[in-house]
Amino acid sequence: MSKTDETKALWESAMMPVYAPETTITSGKGVIVRNSSGQSLYDFTSGIGVQNVGHCHPKVTEAIREQAAKLTHCSNLFANEPAGKLAAKLVELSGLGGKAFFCNSGAEANEAAIKLARKYGAATGGRYRIVTMRQSFHGRTLATLAATGQSWCQEGYDPLPAGFAYADFNDLESVKAAVDDDTVAIMLECVQGEGGVTPATEEFIKGVRTLCDEKDMLMICDEVQTGMGRTGTWFSWQGYGVEPDLFTLAKALGGGLPIGALVSNAKCADVFTPGSHASTFGGNPVAAAAALAVIDVIQSEGVLENVAKTSALAFEAFQAFVDKYPKLLEVRGKGLLIGIAVDGDPKPVVEAFRDQSVLVLTAKGNVVRIMPPLTIKENDLVDAIEMMSDALDCLYGEE
Ligand SMILES: *Cc1c(COP(=O)(O)O)cnc(C)c1O
Repeated sequence: MSKTDETKALWESAMMPVYAPETTITSGKGVIVRNSSGQSLYDFTSGIGVQNVGHCHPKVTEAIREQAAKLTHCSNLFANEPAGKLAAKLVELSGLGGKAFFCNSGAEANEAAIKLARKYGAATGGRYRIVTMRQSFHGRTLATLAATGQSWCQEGYDPLPAGFAYADFNDLESVKAAVDDDTVAIMLECVQGEGGVTPATEEFIKGVRTLCDEKDMLMICDEVQTGMGRTGTWFSWQGYGVEPDLFTLAKALGGGLPIGALVSNAKCADVFTPGSHASTFGGNPVAAAAALAVIDVIQSEGVLENVAKTSALAFEAFQAFVDKYPKLLEVRGKGLLIGIAVDGDPKPVVEAFRDQSVLVLTAKGNVVRIMPPLTIKENDLVDAIEMMSDALDCLYGEE
């Protein structure tokens, strides 16, 4: 048995069986990962939307190395420099004039948003309900599971926390119908990721903003998957011409290290008061240093411009796939968060791509989800598209 087969065996024998990895990844560099058999693969999962600047970007690695030798943790009883700088940077990039709170994951960031909304609601007429969207995904803690508008991940966990109501995505009338006098917030993803790679219409997002303004409700954007440039702007709400009251980040923020953030506008900046919320590791200096390096890379290497360029190329190529193969129904998404809807199970497509050395994901609703690192070069993208094209020829037979 090879060393890395042993790794997979340990996962099976000693780890709770919530994951089913098919292979062990041993290293990553840019858009490429290497597995235990020594194969190089294009990572068009980006570690599920985490490696937006690619695996082991030298600037991120160096920032982690430097901070790890200086201070790895001091608790929030004391200030640390990277966290303070990161908060200021996120507030600046958002233009919302508010403040940030740090935690360690997407679920925790959304949990913080839910708690902040409840605290705001308690102070403004005793409101507590939060309207979320069907097919949304907000995380796996009990509250964020309740906020998630999909039943497959909720089964077996009753009773879930009360205070959530669901509306249909892209249907403003449905949202209006779900709002009542107890409702304090509307929470949504501008592009639903996990739920099927479905972008909101501009009309819908603007309508939600207006509704929130009319009823003094908070608009919460979950940017855990769409944030940090994934859809072509720093945060996906910036592509819709609106400003949320709160938004959440995690996945790509730390360039591979665990960190989550809740960012507010000025109105919500001081709703949390000393002691009213906290996280031991929140604002960890190493994770924050990594996040500062990620932001520096996105800014200094023209990453958002690269998303625009490579996204256009990818959409064109995938549309050609859809035109060629009747089993492929539609391409949708934004930036480099792209879904291809399949007639039937998307898994054979994922497996065919993997057999040609391109790793991709699925999303709910028969969707193949494609998320390359945002730093991908055009020639690598063209190369991978060629491999995917071969894979589809193998799977569906050449016409
Ligand atoms: C992944 C994801 C989450 C959950 O993030 P974790 O870090 O796994 O807790 C929440 N919201 C969205 C939109 C996500 O894609």
